[in-house]
Amino acid sequence: MLATETFNLLKKYRIRLDRKKGQNYLINNHFLSQIIENAHLDHSDVVLEIGAGIGTLTVPLAEKVSKVVAIEQDKRIIPILRERLNEKDISNVEILLGDATKLNFPYFSKVVSNLPYQISSPITFKLLGYDFDFAILMYQLEFAQRMIAKPGESHYSRLSVMMNLCTQTELLFKVPKNAFLPPPKISSAVIKLTPTRNPDVDEFFVKTCRALFQHKKKKSGKALLQSFHEICDMDLARSSIRDIISQVNGKLIEERVFKLTPEEILVISSELEDVLEKM
Ligand code: SAH
Repeated sequence: MLATETFNLLKKYRIRLDRKKGQNYLINNHFLSQIIENAHLDHSDVVLEIGAGIGTLTVPLAEKVSKVVAIEQDKRIIPILRERLNEKDISNVEILLGDATKLNFPYFSKVVSNLPYQISSPITFKLLGYDFDFAILMYQLEFAQRMIAKPGESHYSRLSVMMNLCTQTELLFKVPKNAFLPPPKISSAVIKLTPTRNPDVDEFFVKTCRALFQHKKKKSGKALLQSFHEICDMDLARSSIRDIISQVNGKLIEERVFKLTPEEILVISSELEDVLEKM
């Protein structure tokens, strides 16, 4: 049993897991096999695993693919991971010790990870910079809901917009707290994320989107006015900023930010960029 095995290993090495470090180890065989199944692995795959821990996912992944790149930040955990791989005669795992938000990832075709929750956001955005088939990722339920939220829904956010435009994202299944040791405070969910290229999502768009969602409930023209410094570092009088914003599609700047579709935000951003370029 995964639960007993995990408990005994941690006891043997006298490791106390720390929730603050995102250490919630999967101890449920059913959800483990669901994750592996959904990854549709074959021998040509190179899998990136972020937060490998004691190898609960690493081992079954390595048995199915050509190589696993396993990143783990906690150096106390690495010897356990190595021992487990040795015991099972697994030699196709490259272990990288370090912070996954800071390391450059080597080539990979898929990502399969039970992510450390505190880096969900930076890791998700970081992955968008890479080219790969798809990712199967465990997140906190609330974060997963924000990823897939539609305009007007309470979880709709900057993250939803970015996921909508740059990926195809689907919630595969929820995972209860007791599937982990120690149990996290809230439930989790497994997401399938497939990157889709979108050349319109550039730095200017990202800044506009950030500025808008700083005032999610306000009309978008007002949100842009209040967070204009996020978009443009020119030192402009408030009246000039008002004038710039008034040149953007009138219907859209009267709409509340949380009701704008991702495509409408693209329109706002490109019109705003045009106005600024003409100045
Ligand atoms: N995959 C394992 C462990 C998941 S817990 C399992 O499913 O059981 C997440 C792991 O990520 C922990 O081992 C934690 O130490 C590690 N971790 C936390 N922050 C990290 C970071 N910034 N970079 C890499 N690993 C990190």
